[in-house]
Amino acid sequence: MDATTVTRAPVLILLGPPGAGKGTQARKLEDKYGLVQLSTGDLLRAGVAQGSEAGKQAKAVMEAGQLVSDEIVIAILRDRIAEPDCANGVILDGFPRTTVQAEALDALLAESGQKIDAAISLEVDDAAMVDRISGRYTCAGCGEGYHDTFKTPKQAGVCDTCGGSEMKRRADDKAETVASRLEAYHAQTAPLIGYYEGKGALSRIDAMGKIEEIAAGLGAIVEKATG
Ligand SMILES: [Zn+2]
Repeated sequence: MDATTVTRAPVLILLGPPGAGKGTQARKLEDKYGLVQLSTGDLLRAGVAQGSEAGKQAKAVMEAGQLVSDEIVIAILRDRIAEPDCANGVILDGFPRTTVQAEALDALLAESGQKIDAAISLEVDDAAMVDRISGRYTCAGCGEGYHDTFKTPKQAGVCDTCGGSEMKRRADDKAETVASRLEAYHAQTAPLIGYYEGKGALSRIDAMGKIEEIAAGLGAIVEKATG
């Protein structure tokens, strides 16, 4: 070991469909374990701000209105996780998205003696998820949230909080929209889940339970991976 040895930051990947509570859980992991959540957007912004070689390339590509290549994203990621605030580890969110990206990421991490410590899949019951999301609505007057099954107002159609009777639903929350989002997620993510499963790095967490229970399950995986 010499002074130039880079501290090995644990690298975790969080996978989960929209509505699985990924953002909430990632924030809890940041708070409890000092991990840093990195989305592709965060990475690109950091790379550009840093002005590193890869950051400069990313800036040029984005200014030309083109998509930043996997190589550039991964090079920025390597620089980013070597920074002091990432010493406790990082949670990748939204990258890698494909097995090609996953392989490239593994190869790059291996160069600095790193690896993916855990890929955590937040697993949902699709039908229950459709019910959960499509049942949501809010009071147009005060913003109070309700649900067809889980939280109905005392008097149907009348807000408990402000007495208003105009309720609204998000177009994105329609049952068929939610179902097709889930389908797209599974189609895109299945190969990635298989990839990490094959490497023995995959953990599955039931994401349909209570937030605190899910957080406890995630915490156990993180402690095992980083301890
Ligand atoms: Zn209201």
